[in-house]
Amino acid sequence: MSNCIFCKIVAGEIPSTKVYEDEKVLGFKDLNPMAEVHNLFIHKDHTQDLNDLSDNKQDQLGDIFSAISKYSKESKLAEDGFRVVTNIGNNGGQTVFHTHFHVLGGQRLGGFGS
Ligand code: 5GP
Ligand code: ZN
Repeated sequence: MSNCIFCKIVAGEIPSTKVYEDEKVLGFKDLNPMAEVHNLFIHKDHTQDLNDLSDNKQDQLGDIFSAISKYSKESKLAEDGFRVVTNIGNNGGQTVFHTHFHVLGGQRLGGFGS
């Protein structure tokens, strides 16, 4: 989508610090990190959110989660553990409407059972 900032990152029109890339998926550092390690993983093909992706391009789920898993092992993030989060809509706090998964780690994360 022409007015989507993450599509512009995929196209190289907005700079980003890449941590992972393959044919279909891009991982890059979040501009406003909420943890020692805070990356965003996206499919290069635009969808709006997880439900749009699930309804229309379900194959992308495997592409994205395989990439996150591969990255976590290569970067050693998997050794100490990490968290994957996706925000959907207003109550979820979604601010960028190109499906993305936050990959958080590098420290003990708070919330959710800690
Ligand atoms: P959301 O709130 O939609 O789940 O997450 C959007 C994330 O994108 C936020 O954590 C925000 O810091 C990040 N972000 C917004 N604009 C940019 C950008 O231009 N570059 C990068 N690297 N991250 C961005
Ligand atoms: Zn997009």
